[in-house]
Amino acid sequence: MLNTANTQEQLQARVRIVLVDTSHAGNIGAAARAMKNMGLARLYLVTPKQFPHADATARASGADDVLAQATVCATLDEALVGCSLVMGASARLRNLSVPLLAPRQCATRVLSEITEAGIECALVFGREHSGLTNDELGRCHHLVNIPTNPEYSSLNLAAAVQVLSYELRVATLSEQTGVADDVDVEPLASAEDMERFYVHLQQTLEAIGFLDPKNPRIMMQRLRRLFNRARPNEVEMNILRGILTMTQKAGHQPDPD
Ligand code: SAH
Repeated sequence: MLNTANTQEQLQARVRIVLVDTSHAGNIGAAARAMKNMGLARLYLVTPKQFPHADATARASGADDVLAQATVCATLDEALVGCSLVMGASARLRNLSVPLLAPRQCATRVLSEITEAGIECALVFGREHSGLTNDELGRCHHLVNIPTNPEYSSLNLAAAVQVLSYELRVATLSEQTGVADDVDVEPLASAEDMERFYVHLQQTLEAIGFLDPKNPRIMMQRLRRLFNRARPNEVEMNILRGILTMTQKAGHQPDPD
């Protein structure tokens, strides 16, 4: 299992966002902001129409460091130097000779390749009006399509950057949650603890008249199924046992009436 802090560093060092021929400087700023929100830092701009530009700085908000460090390139090939994995973001599914990935698959793939194979990766985004050319798509190992309304499928450039960067972040964090999901912070109650609990539960339910002592089996089976599904930890088990003990004590107290 990978260390998340380390994975985040690798994400920042090894993933670049490449924007090709962007027309609106504001989109460059908004893309920088989206990147920084998601822990990405390396922005490459291939022949931007306007850059640097006040609109880019304004839309970047606090992410102007990403803009300041952006690399401006004359060609896509120049922007891809050093990358062994190139993902092309495409609103249209026109070039199906390049294998297509969903955003989540793309993120998992990028993450495993940068961490396990130690390579660098580029996510390439096209022009606002016409996307990526076939030639540019031909540079990509995979196409990534964000599933959208088929009647209105094209996202704003920075919104597309946001979605793919977000998926990368989620994939990075799930390195951590994957462990947390499986391992309770508190140790789970042991089988012996569970059996002691069921004896205690049965005694208590009989004492309060909820369970027929002559025929406890079906109800106890149902309750076993319920508590086994919950898989209580030791602390929770102590709470349950405490409730049973107090219930028994309360049952011994004289009736207030
Ligand atoms: N009119 C263009 C869309 C350009 S949007 C076209 O039809 O191709 C600008 C860029 O944002 C696209 O080139 C692509 O990189 C990205 N983008 C927009 N919508 C997307 C989607 N649904 N899936 C993946 N990328 C998308």
